[in-house]
Amino acid sequence: MRYLLGLLLIVALAAAGAFVYAGRLPGPAIEITKPVKYVGQSAPVEVAVTAPGAKLTRLEVVFEQNGKQTPIASLAQPASAEIKQDGPDKVRVTRTISREQIPDLKTGPAKIIVTAERPVLRGMRKVQSSASHDVQVRLEKPMIAVISTKHYINLGGSEMVVYRATPPDVESGVQVGDVLYPGYPAGGVKIEGVHIADPAVKLAFIALRYDQDVNTPMFAYAKDEAGNSARADFDRLTFPKPFKKSRIELNDAFLDRVVPAILATTTEVAPQGANLDKFLVLNGELRRKNAETIANYSKQSSAEMLWNGVVFHPFTNSAVEAALADQRTYVYGGKDVDRQTHLGFDLARVVNSPVVAANRGKVVHASPLGIYGNCVIIDHGMGVQSLYGHLSSFAVKVGDSVEKEQELGKSGMTGLAGGDHLHFTMLVNGQMVNPVEWWDQHWIQDRILRKLREASGS
Ligand SMILES: [Zn+2]
Repeated sequence: MRYLLGLLLIVALAAAGAFVYAGRLPGPAIEITKPVKYVGQSAPVEVAVTAPGAKLTRLEVVFEQNGKQTPIASLAQPASAEIKQDGPDKVRVTRTISREQIPDLKTGPAKIIVTAERPVLRGMRKVQSSASHDVQVRLEKPMIAVISTKHYINLGGSEMVVYRATPPDVESGVQVGDVLYPGYPAGGVKIEGVHIADPAVKLAFIALRYDQDVNTPMFAYAKDEAGNSARADFDRLTFPKPFKKSRIELNDAFLDRVVPAILATTTEVAPQGANLDKFLVLNGELRRKNAETIANYSKQSSAEMLWNGVVFHPFTNSAVEAALADQRTYVYGGKDVDRQTHLGFDLARVVNSPVVAANRGKVVHASPLGIYGNCVIIDHGMGVQSLYGHLSSFAVKVGDSVEKEQELGKSGMTGLAGGDHLHFTMLVNGQMVNPVEWWDQHWIQDRILRKLREASGS
């Protein structure tokens, strides 16, 4: 009898111990992944809750602002939000909130609060946990209006748009099709007669890519961290441009010279097979990878206009051998083997002639760059850059500031070059554009300086 009582006592103590222990087990792990910081007119909410077997007895997501709580998702009302099992131990809640669900939503601080509960000890006890995440509500839409007028855009060419976006720190720019051109504060222009102190006035250099439609939609945009956005149209005329067709004969002497030389300086492709097969990889895949590398330099562009509004050096003393967007067919042994678009100008003078900076700027690249051989890229600020390819030698290094017509190196035939020439292109936010416009004083005057002066008194 005593023995039995003792056993009962032990069992009772063990049960009590298990009960207490289970109550101290951790509650479900809660992770509030969205919104990160801002809530706009409409904002996604995303919460992940982890518990063994994804078993939850309670799950509440609440939006709290100015002491008032609004339920936004609950296990008790699963229809109100998307609550989905996401892995063996995880539940994910997704929901978009807006003024419709939270009529009192106001600009200012708020909180997302999540409470979750899971069963322990075969459901005899429950353990709970909660998490809270501070957010900022921003309901005011940014505003944007274009100031500049008379925009004329050639296919493959450039333009500049001046606009006013508020609040001044809002992300803004111009979108052309699916390409974004960021705006830069107009205060970064240091040209005589141009004084734009208003921090809300921005300018964006834009391009209509040679392969876009002449009717491509374009507009100025502003978008804040909370996802609120605004857009503005601008008056414009766009003009098609016929691109030339040309044929390039490949021969073994050319392939033997250029293919191993380019492969010796590149790690981005490693083609196998005959020189012609390797050439096709360089002319296609490497050409595209090089274009990406070049486009990435736009992210390093200075927020200041470094070239002071002076026309770009026109290289008029050179013979133009190829122009922007020539459609090239490559022929080998009498057969068409490849087609590519040539994005730049090929300018030939005498062998090893000095290559000069088209305008004032800063060197962002001075080393071999795939099919462009020894290549210099100069940043002129606000997304405008220029590229010089196939050089035989360098006279500058990365980080150097250069003046207009300062020597960058000597012309050559490194990279994919049939003979000694300079491959020159202008870049607008990484897009290769027709340099002829930038070589034209009248174009600079009307497309850029006129608009800056008109925006100046505003
Ligand atoms: Zn070229």
